[in-house]
Amino acid sequence: MNSDERKRALDQIAAEVSVCRLCPLHAGRTNAVPGEGHADTEVVFVGEGPGFNEDQQGRPFVGAAGGLLNELLKAIGWKREEVFITNVVKCRPPQNRDPEPSEIAACAPYLRRQLEVIDPAVVVTLGRHSLQTFMPGARIGGVHGTVHPVDPQTGAANAQTYAMYHPAAALRASNLKQTMLEDMSGLPQVLIDARIKRAGMTPEARDNQPMAAVAIEVTAIEPAVATDFAQPEIEAEQVLAAVAVTAESAPEPVDENQMSLF
Ligand code: URA
Ligand code: SF4
Repeated sequence: MNSDERKRALDQIAAEVSVCRLCPLHAGRTNAVPGEGHADTEVVFVGEGPGFNEDQQGRPFVGAAGGLLNELLKAIGWKREEVFITNVVKCRPPQNRDPEPSEIAACAPYLRRQLEVIDPAVVVTLGRHSLQTFMPGARIGGVHGTVHPVDPQTGAANAQTYAMYHPAAALRASNLKQTMLEDMSGLPQVLIDARIKRAGMTPEARDNQPMAAVAIEVTAIEPAVATDFAQPEIEAEQVLAAVAVTAESAPEPVDENQMSLF
């Protein structure tokens, strides 16, 4: 699939979601929230379900939790437009209650199709419900910050999953904010390792036979936006664009000094 085909396929899924009535959550929604981001990204973030602001706007992570997510992305030099952000259920549960297993199951084909289209290298789970989809049985306290292969049944054919706490949990318990920042700072390396696994190469083989330009190294890091928690050191070479340069998406030669594709 090329970039245009991916965009069209994601738009098609979003159009179906916007009129979906497959589970009871449709009854309480103002807007369904299919998800948004770059169709060519290598990194998909999966949260739980829309909250009040998301339901109002029809966009994921636009409330307080979204503010923290943006801040965490900025700390590693990534922008939310460079990744894809969605949820396990696309309609807001009443009073922000947890989604029921039956609702998650009803909505799962949309997430599966989004992952089939994007074919990400990394799926970042945000919170418990997303974690259960990608690492059934795992406990967030034990697995956050760790990487596991994704079951291709989820739609992500060749991906690693990286577990993180939910930003809303970090807004309630401030010690989790620092944990989330530490976990987020590991994500660029998780992406590098996932790329190597997808290419079927050992790190040594990769070093001897470099892949075509897959990453743009950033030489200068913006100062972290976060002011109320300590910033771990992030190596410059770890800060990579979240969107791979592929033959399809980058017809122009890549300028090595360019900071970002966007
Ligand atoms: N929390 C989520 O899990 N998803 C959103 O989109 C917003 C808040
Ligand atoms: Fe359909 Fe998912 Fe919304 Fe339920 S939550 S109505 S399955 S889009």
